[in-house]
Amino acid sequence: MAKAVIIYGPPGAGKGTQAELLERNFDFIHFDTGRYVERLVHSPEAEKNKILKREQVNFNTGKLMTPAWIIKISRAAALKIAKTGNSAVFSGSPRTLFEAFGDPPALTSPRRRRVGRKTKGLFEILLKLFGRENIFIIHLLIPPSVSTGRNQIRRVCSVCGLPAMRGNPSPRCLFCGGPMRTRTLDKASVIKIRLKEYRDRTFPILKKAKKIGIKIFEIDGKPLPYKVHRQIVKKIKLR
Ligand SMILES: [Zn+2]
Repeated sequence: MAKAVIIYGPPGAGKGTQAELLERNFDFIHFDTGRYVERLVHSPEAEKNKILKREQVNFNTGKLMTPAWIIKISRAAALKIAKTGNSAVFSGSPRTLFEAFGDPPALTSPRRRRVGRKTKGLFEILLKLFGRENIFIIHLLIPPSVSTGRNQIRRVCSVCGLPAMRGNPSPRCLFCGGPMRTRTLDKASVIKIRLKEYRDRTFPILKKAKKIGIKIFEIDGKPLPYKVHRQIVKKIKLR
């Protein structure tokens, strides 16, 4: 039975790495919202499409992307993946309560309720597509000091974007040989903000998900990625 896995965790917890490992070892398709959005808004289509153009401006000026638009594209992605019969893994998204659960009933105006225009969140569509018993949230835990430490030294390939292996000092990418660079997103001051953002946004989502009966597994994100991967495999009974 196809599964939907959502991986949360502070910056540097290894969300992307764990999603990639699931994709490589099992029938998962990884939907990386950030990467997908970046591609969409920089596609040639964005020059012709008004909505994409608007999001391109948001993206390039560091503003928040329009939440309803993010919901729309992640819902479409979930649908596409489910149609293939594969499992889906999301890393770091849905990021907000609104993206996860849509409009809270109390905030939906009577008129909008009448015309049925409540915005549905990603969980609603995942429940429909995969079923409650096949949805899993993995929460990777690392202390703030590890988060900061890992991010300060995080280097990625300037050509293909692959991260450097932890503890590997090579100035060259192991995949394509390109020169490595430090991610600008990962400066200490920026990490502090991202840590706070992660806490403020993620905990309410976890709380609500738990309330509606979605399984949440907290997993220690400190060990090497392959060990963390083993834990995830065990918890969601992939083997
Ligand atoms: Zn490379």
